[in-house]
Amino acid sequence: MTPLEKPGETAAKLCLKCNLPLAMAKVGISYLGNTFPVDLPKCPGCGLVYIPEDLALGKMAEVEKLLEDK
Ligand SMILES: [Zn+2]
Repeated sequence: MTPLEKPGETAAKLCLKCNLPLAMAKVGISYLGNTFPVDLPKCPGCGLVYIPEDLALGKMAEVEKLLEDK
């Protein structure tokens, strides 16, 4: 009955698919034709990257595929 989400808690995000805690990882954000390495929370399971809202709605209009791990 109790919602799992805690409003205001921003420290640890969980992957909606895997229910795993996201870990910071260097990912490539494609913006205006260039790719920038950015540290973002990434799921170690499926590779999903959590894009902060301001990043998704603001500066980064286009988020392309992530850079593969080297
Ligand atoms: Zn996942």
